[in-house]
Amino acid sequence: MVHEKWIETLRTQNRRLKDLKKSPKVVLVHDLPWVRIRDISDQFYCELKVDLELKFGKKYAPETKKGSEIHKKVDSSLRRVNLKRLIEDIVSGKSFFAKFTVDFEFEEVPIVGVLDQTFFREGKPFYLLEVKSTNHKLDRIYEGEKAQAMLYGFALEKMGFDCSKLCLAVVKVKRDLDVEKYSNLAVRVVQKMDLIRDLGKGKVGNKELKNEFVHFWEYNGLEELEGEIREKLNYWTKKRSPKPAQNTNKCKRCAYKDFCRG
Ligand code: SF4
Repeated sequence: MVHEKWIETLRTQNRRLKDLKKSPKVVLVHDLPWVRIRDISDQFYCELKVDLELKFGKKYAPETKKGSEIHKKVDSSLRRVNLKRLIEDIVSGKSFFAKFTVDFEFEEVPIVGVLDQTFFREGKPFYLLEVKSTNHKLDRIYEGEKAQAMLYGFALEKMGFDCSKLCLAVVKVKRDLDVEKYSNLAVRVVQKMDLIRDLGKGKVGNKELKNEFVHFWEYNGLEELEGEIREKLNYWTKKRSPKPAQNTNKCKRCAYKDFCRG
């Protein structure tokens, strides 16, 4: 019988999240029970926008809506499996992609996220793929995208997974690409990343594939991001007000611009 921390953490997750909903551990903005990883990632773009989304509901600028629909199609092949099955599959050592919820605490603030495309092999997470569709350059990676992948990796480590082989990858794809071209995207990326790592060139870098651009690096904790996350959490714990975007170009295409106080 295998007794590992990650098994216990997964088994007790539902209860932990239910308890947090009933009685939150810390007081957070908008009475939230926890902070979502994807919201922290969006804070890097505009913190005030995140706050307005929580207050008034999500509003999409037209181009963003298309991106979100594409993202759903990319993920449609992956369904969440129940935790019992997930644990069995990981313990068996087989190679597979999984979609599941992760949770951890950062200085007592509960943080929760959903991993879309985590590739397990030999009982360990090997790749964590974060797919982003864009109308802009594929070879550009934004701070928030990098932070999101790093926080997912950090969540896995805090939950007790062996992250010694974990490679984080932000996969950028064109928003106007035919949806069929997204099929097998994750498998293609993993095959290519295996080759790169076998050649000993996989520490950090990027690679242009057929229809996508992969930005990758070996997981090594939160590194320089730790202080930044601590500062970002000050908004969630009500230590300060949300900050507007510094770059006013972002405001021109923002769905909240008509009623933003920024
Ligand atoms: S209008 Fe600008 S400052 Fe206001 S929420 Fe949108 S991006 Fe942020």
